[in-house]
Amino acid sequence: MPTHEAALAALGRRGRLRALAPRCGIDFTSNDYLGLSGSEALREAAAAALARGVPAGAGGSRLLRGNHAEHEALEAAAAAFFGAESTLFFAGGFAANAALVATLPRRGDLVVHDALIHASVHEGLAASPAEAVAVPHNDADAVADAIRRFRAAGGRGRVWIAAETLYGMDGDVAPLADLAAIADRHEAMLLLDEAHATGICGPGGRGLAAALEGQANVVTLHTCGKALGVMGALVCLPRSLRDYMINRARGFIYATAPSPLVAAMVRAALGLASAADDRRQRLAALVAHARAGLARCGLPATATHIQPVILGADRRASAVAAALQEEGFDVRAIRPPTVPPGTARLRIALTLHVDEAAIGALMAALGRAMKGRTS
Ligand code: PMP
Repeated sequence: MPTHEAALAALGRRGRLRALAPRCGIDFTSNDYLGLSGSEALREAAAAALARGVPAGAGGSRLLRGNHAEHEALEAAAAAFFGAESTLFFAGGFAANAALVATLPRRGDLVVHDALIHASVHEGLAASPAEAVAVPHNDADAVADAIRRFRAAGGRGRVWIAAETLYGMDGDVAPLADLAAIADRHEAMLLLDEAHATGICGPGGRGLAAALEGQANVVTLHTCGKALGVMGALVCLPRSLRDYMINRARGFIYATAPSPLVAAMVRAALGLASAADDRRQRLAALVAHARAGLARCGLPATATHIQPVILGADRRASAVAAALQEEGFDVRAIRPPTVPPGTARLRIALTLHVDEAAIGALMAALGRAMKGRTS
């Protein structure tokens, strides 16, 4: 068994060693899509919460004394905002996904998940007694086939279909209507991660699943650290499943409750997001500008605020990212295992922290960097 030092050295030899670096350059990387995180409005909400005595810490599990009126006020506001029967707040999206996936599917159940689903779902699956099967990305027919195979082999448990509504590393959107029809036909549950859609997509930023009819068989996860600008995650789910989570999810039961101060800020952020049509329109204009710029570089573009530029080899992605960073742009290379082998990429995220001029300058630098590295 190699020591940790030897393992780190091996990572270094393979060019895979990661390190923390300070923020610098124009932000084409963060998930602060609407620019809310440092906004005056959110800072005022924090100050107001502190002034009315909301504590920084909950002091215990929510099942003990940690349950604070701010958690309940947030969950009620979120249920109203998302139109959900009930909601449950977690300290983060990773923790929420891991808890949901480890807890809701039971022994004898099947989880059919997209091949590109977030690592937090894999974390949950590792702790789940249910069977799991991955299907090719955004392939609804493959989901239906996997369910049929499970039933044909005598599987009697419940089926859970797990997908992201808008994929964080690919910027594309799941075939939600098809997945919902399959879920209805097979009496399956949908587990939809809205991390990159919340606050931006759907009516009033309620997410892409808001378009689905009837939500009795849908569980959605809305992270609060991206477009909402704070941290945490709100899960929308039927009341019976909420009760089940409270009683069975280890990551809920045995954890200190999220900060009440953070809960108050997230509640304020929901209010800001619901009234942020102007910010969403601005983001859409930036997306259109970036799409045109990518087309001029001869590169494919997605329809969303996440634009991957897939470069293939890890070293090439790192080199192009480094060239852009030298020119003052904060663009990061995303490499395996975060993305599949051979698909290392730049992940260009559009936020209200940039304008058309910055996007134009980035595209020009990208064109130069890609030529420089390919010739
Ligand atoms: N789901 C997806 C799709 C994500 O991109 C992320 C964050 N990278 C998470 C869940 C985890 O959310 P959080 O950052 O709030 O822990």
